[in-house]
Amino acid sequence: MAEDAEPLDAAFVRGWLGEAAAAIDREAERLTALDSAIGDADHGSNMRRGFAAVLPALERDAPATPGAVLVLAGRTLVSTVGGAAGPLYGTLLRNSGKALGDAERVPAGEFAEALRAGVAAVARLGGAAAGDKTMLDALLPAVEELPGWDAARQAAAKGAAATVPMRARKGRASYLGERSVGHEDPGAASSALLIAALARAAGYEAGEVAGDG
Ligand code: ADP
Ligand code: MG
Repeated sequence: MAEDAEPLDAAFVRGWLGEAAAAIDREAERLTALDSAIGDADHGSNMRRGFAAVLPALERDAPATPGAVLVLAGRTLVSTVGGAAGPLYGTLLRNSGKALGDAERVPAGEFAEALRAGVAAVARLGGAAAGDKTMLDALLPAVEELPGWDAARQAAAKGAAATVPMRARKGRASYLGERSVGHEDPGAASSALLIAALARAAGYEAGEVAGDG
C-alpha cells in the first residue's frame, strides 16, 4: 500500500492492533528477559495481558471510527497492562484517538499527525525525552517518518537498538544508574514491535523493499 493510498478506516486500526497483539504474544518472553536485565521482569507479561484484552474489547463494543478504536484500545491498556507501561501506552493510543476526532475515514497524513500527538502526550506524562532510554527512543524517530510506514518501522528498530549503550534516566531502570548500560530498553523493544505491526497493517512485511507493496 502506498503512502498516499486510500484514507484509513476503523478496520485498518483494528488490523494494526491485531498485528500488534500477535507480535507482543510472540515476543513476550524476549520483552520480559530484557526487563529482567534492567527492571523487574514483567514487561512481556504486562504487555501480553493488555493486548490480549484489546481485541475482545473491540469486538464487544465495535467502535466505528479510527479514533474510537484507538480510544477504546488505550482505555483497555490502562486498565490491564499495569506497571509504568500501561498508563504510557494507554496515553499513546487514547491521545492519538482523541486527535482523530470522529471522522470515519482519515488520510494517512492526519493519522501520522495524531500519532505524533499521542507520542507527545507520552513524553508529557512520563517526563522523558530522547536519549533517556525509554520507549520514546523508538517512538519519537518512528512517528517522524510517518506516514512512511516502512521508514517508521526501520527508525523504530534502529531507535530501540540505540538504547543499548544508553544510561537510563527514567523509570525503574534508572535506579541501576551505570549498570543500565549495555541492555536494550524493554519499552523501546515493545514500541518497535508496535510500529512494525503498523507497517504490516499498511502492507509492508519486514525486509520488504519500501514502495514494493
Ligand atoms: P515497570 O517499569 O513499572 O515494571 P514495565 O516493565 O511494563 O513497567 O515497562 C517498563 C518500560 O516503561 C521501560 O522499559 C520504559 O521504556 C518505559 N518507561 C518507564 N518509565 C518511563 C517514562 N517516565 N517515560 C517513558 N517511558 C517510560
Ligand atoms: Mg517492569
